[in-house]
Amino acid sequence: MLTPATPLLDLHQFVPRVGPKTAQKLAAELAEAVGLISAEAATVEDLLYYLPFRYEDRSHLPVVNDLADGLKAAVEVEIRSPANYPIRSKTGRPLSIFEFMGRDETGQVRAYWWNQPYLLNVMKAGQRVVLFGEWKFSNKNQCHQIENPEYEVLADTDEADVEDAPTIHTGRRVPIYRKLGSFRTRALRSLMFRLIERLSDVEEDALPSDLVARFGVPSKFDAFRQVHFPDLDCDFSELLRGRSPAHARLALEEFYLLSLAMLERRARRTAEGKAPMVVTDRIRNAVRQVLPFKPTGAQKRVIREIVADMTGPQPMTRLLQGDVGAGKTVIALQAMIVAVENGWQVALMAPTEILVEQHALNLARWLRETPYRVGSLTGSLKATEKRAVRAAIAAGEFDIVVGTQALIQESTEFSRLGLVVIDEQHRFGVMQRETLVRQGVRPDVLVMTATPIPRSLAMSLYGDLEVSVLDELPPGRTPVTTAMRGAADRLKVYEFIRKECAAGRQVYIVFPLVDESEKSDLTAAVTAAAELQKNVFPGLRIGLLHGKMKPAEKEAAMAKFAAGETQVLVSTTVIEVGIDVPNASVMVIEHPERFGLAQLHQLRGRIGRGAAKSYCILMTAKKLADDSRARLDLFCETGDGFLIAEKDLEWRGPGELLGTRQSGVPLFRVGNILRDRDWLEVAREFARRAMDAERHTRDTARRLDLARLAFPSESLGV
Ligand code: ADP
Ligand code: MG
Repeated sequence: MLTPATPLLDLHQFVPRVGPKTAQKLAAELAEAVGLISAEAATVEDLLYYLPFRYEDRSHLPVVNDLADGLKAAVEVEIRSPANYPIRSKTGRPLSIFEFMGRDETGQVRAYWWNQPYLLNVMKAGQRVVLFGEWKFSNKNQCHQIENPEYEVLADTDEADVEDAPTIHTGRRVPIYRKLGSFRTRALRSLMFRLIERLSDVEEDALPSDLVARFGVPSKFDAFRQVHFPDLDCDFSELLRGRSPAHARLALEEFYLLSLAMLERRARRTAEGKAPMVVTDRIRNAVRQVLPFKPTGAQKRVIREIVADMTGPQPMTRLLQGDVGAGKTVIALQAMIVAVENGWQVALMAPTEILVEQHALNLARWLRETPYRVGSLTGSLKATEKRAVRAAIAAGEFDIVVGTQALIQESTEFSRLGLVVIDEQHRFGVMQRETLVRQGVRPDVLVMTATPIPRSLAMSLYGDLEVSVLDELPPGRTPVTTAMRGAADRLKVYEFIRKECAAGRQVYIVFPLVDESEKSDLTAAVTAAAELQKNVFPGLRIGLLHGKMKPAEKEAAMAKFAAGETQVLVSTTVIEVGIDVPNASVMVIEHPERFGLAQLHQLRGRIGRGAAKSYCILMTAKKLADDSRARLDLFCETGDGFLIAEKDLEWRGPGELLGTRQSGVPLFRVGNILRDRDWLEVAREFARRAMDAERHTRDTARRLDLARLAFPSESLGV
């Protein structure tokens, strides 16, 4: 019996005209394309999840006579006089062109491809072919023509294929697949059709029937059938957007199982328990002694939420979202003091060396009068020094350890780890809490980020994470004025920098460094620094900071800028996160169009931290693409980090923000957490109901098994 669980390698036993070789090749290609461990592991279900990326409505294709200049459409024609001939390009490079005339009852068209002579063997005279793309009217040929169209030959020499061609490939809404190795869309479509015809529906439904009823979605079996071969009467635009009932059914299952896995993990964690911390008057006093200023209302609320977790019976897992400059560091400081006063060790992790160094400096300053011992694990330490620090951590000699995540998570043993603070986490899930738990400790975990994901999304995706929001900036901030300037304004911008420096302020000039290994970008910053010093600002003290500098050099450059010795700091994006120099009031960003919005916002957050009015100047090239301009316009208009994050998410998709499966964020085969937020929330609601029941029903237990299989604990991140 052919079922979704059948290994793909056995496909030839069930589906006519599929040989063992084809089955083998298909399994291998699929395993490769969707990241399965091996061809042997690939099942029929994995293939069914290889969804069409678009559909073509061939139930009523336009005829040649319906074409118009600029129309994007699929047309079915018969191939006449195909030919391939060489032409000489202007540069003398040999080119070739493959072309034919296509005919139907109403007229003819011309199709042509550059440098694909092999098409002569693919498209033969007399065959029918569907051509898809943008049609142009050619005056020379007096007909519509199409350049490099997508194509699909409808009848090739394979007799058997001719027979099923009309029902599978035309006269219906057909699925279009991405190429899978050597399998093109037409081959995949035939195969999928014959497979679904013979498939037996044996699976028990993973979704509870009330959830299915709520959305009126088909069974999983029908969903697979319809998502590949949609009925004629379904809503075509929903289908194209991946929002058809069939898509909904498949996405809901993913979301439901993820939610179950999340909730189960939370229940397990709750059951694990931990030794609760206490807060006494002595501890309150210790915190008050250290706090460098009066907390804002929002800071007080958030610290109360955190302390409630820490003094509770279960390990804390809390996400703190607060815009750039909102003052997350002192919140962490208070939590750390509570932990240390309770006799625990604290690990503070940051994403970059510079930030680690800055945290270490700040802590040293704030904690000078206390008995707490702060150690740091940085990349600049020699191997022997690292070993010594690790030994001291294991011996319990440090109360607080600052380091990058990599440094702390790699083989660092704590003697009594009670709290982990992760600063500036913009990619969620990177932190594998499990690696610490495996050491046998259940620390409280506080994750801080300035890159907010919409709250509903956070709750759904990181279901077992509590969320605190720091929604108030410390007092005395003046909003940053942001503007775009072009090349013609450059001298004026320089004049403005001179004026600000004369008034005692400091300036950042930032160059994009998209990839640390991109030499040309690095050179841009280095050359610019020298150039500016020599020709533009001979009277000012210019500093340089970039990722390729040695940690000690970076630290020195930062320290000089922080002390006001350097007036203008030319840098790459290494200053992006967390750097705090309140006296800096101007930031010039070169090539802003090359940054993401969230990243620009992070950068801009480095200024506007003191009392002086601050300015962010985007130096743009003369010609900007329309979408770049729209993004930068929005950025100039708003300082609202949450709005910016939402827009960034919309424009760039969730991948950038959420990372990939490697980083611990589950990827879905059908669902899209942004587009399908509504489904995600309902699925979570139903999962919660199932888990809240006094005793799990047999169905829930079965679904939990499925959930554990689909979303193993270590894939769930934080
Ligand atoms: P972020 O949330 O971006 O990490 P920081 O913790 O670096 O922000 O704080 C930004 C700046 O605001 C720092 O200079 C910090 O000392 C200052 N700050 C934070 N909280 C307060 C407060 N309650 N009153 C005055 N200044 C504050
Ligand atoms: Mg910070």
